[in-house]
Amino acid sequence: MEKKTFVTKEKLDEIIQTFPTPFHLYDEKGIRENAKALKEAFSWNKGFKEYFAVKATPNPFLIQILREYGCGCDCSSFTELMLSDAMGVKGEDIMFSSNATPAKEYELADKLGAIINLDDITHIDFLEKTIGRIPETISCRYNPGGLFKISNDIMDNPGDAKYGMTTEQIFEAFQILKEKGAKEFGIHAFLASNTVTNEYYPMLAKVLFEVAVKLQNETGAHIKFINLSGGIGIPYRPEQKANDIKIIGEGVRKVYEEVLVPAGMGDVAIYTELGRFMMGPYGCLVTTAIHEKHTHKEYIGLDACAVNLMRPAMYGAYHHITVMGKENEPCDHKYDITGSLCENNDKFAIDRMLPKIDIGDTIVIHDTGAHGFSMGYNYNGKLKSAEILLKEDGTAQLIRRAETPADYFATFDCFDIGRQLIEESHKIWK
Ligand SMILES: *Cc1c(COP(=O)(O)O)cnc(C)c1O
Repeated sequence: MEKKTFVTKEKLDEIIQTFPTPFHLYDEKGIRENAKALKEAFSWNKGFKEYFAVKATPNPFLIQILREYGCGCDCSSFTELMLSDAMGVKGEDIMFSSNATPAKEYELADKLGAIINLDDITHIDFLEKTIGRIPETISCRYNPGGLFKISNDIMDNPGDAKYGMTTEQIFEAFQILKEKGAKEFGIHAFLASNTVTNEYYPMLAKVLFEVAVKLQNETGAHIKFINLSGGIGIPYRPEQKANDIKIIGEGVRKVYEEVLVPAGMGDVAIYTELGRFMMGPYGCLVTTAIHEKHTHKEYIGLDACAVNLMRPAMYGAYHHITVMGKENEPCDHKYDITGSLCENNDKFAIDRMLPKIDIGDTIVIHDTGAHGFSMGYNYNGKLKSAEILLKEDGTAQLIRRAETPADYFATFDCFDIGRQLIEESHKIWK
């Protein structure tokens, strides 16, 4: 499959007139169509809810769009909870799926009435000591261990993951929580990441549904929801085939009818905590080629770096690249496409075949809508970019301004030198 940008060259040229590169651009139309398709795919389940994984794209303008399709927020930190609260996401519309959780985060989650998803059996005592009781609705994160396989393919390695409780522990946890007054239970598991197969969710559902039936039978706990969490992936590579959410929804329905309905559990709600699937394809990083370098290899230097998109440096992840206006030219040049960090892993692509790139070309890096901007950091004192929303009516709206040096120095504001730096930034930064 050819990968196309969701924005035309003409439109992008127009946006760049107002907003200098680099920036992340998001596609309202794509976000809406996908959110609607997810909602429809699970409409067979009365209690279905998607809790958008806020960490993927923590921008209130984007999350507000998802709210229109009934989505809540999946949070795992103090600031993610604050952001959700500020957007008017309240009570059980917040799922708090954290791990190694600080006490003050449990306190805030409880204050907001969020559903708390316990990562470990020892957190029962920790939570009770922190908030003074056990909430009536509570969830536990499950990790069966071993390898997660589909046919003979290893999808991921839960046995090596820090998350969740063992099978033994989750049975004991349900018992203890019930004794301490919990009335409604949930189970959660995240066993494979970025899966590009329609089989992952149905297989995960089978594992969770079977445990749920046993848990309800053996502990007498009422299971209100089963949270399939994140993990539905996107086709980063042109040769990959996108997941079909309708087939995935039907696959989960089939297992639901085979396992839960005969056990008298046809009232269980299905929850999801998708991040990548909701936003990934509907964002891109817009950059400009500012240097070319011919040494032992051919290099193109961009005005963006790993601070703006960390996945290639961190995981060696593939992100497709389009040279705007040269979509139909032959890919007969082999380049390393680099950022400016003093780190040799700051490369958006290595040995990538692309059309000949000239300085000043607009280079679009695809699929940065999730775990893109949000994973960024400030190494080398580089600043994070703006975020812009391409609206359905074709206009572009700034939804986060770019960082300035004053932002970078903000945490020195309790010292003289810091206050000087911040003042100076306001004077010299344009
Ligand atoms: C990161 C995360 C998600 C979202 O994962 P995606 O791969 O973006 O779908 C969901 N739930 C939890 C607990 C997470 O940590």
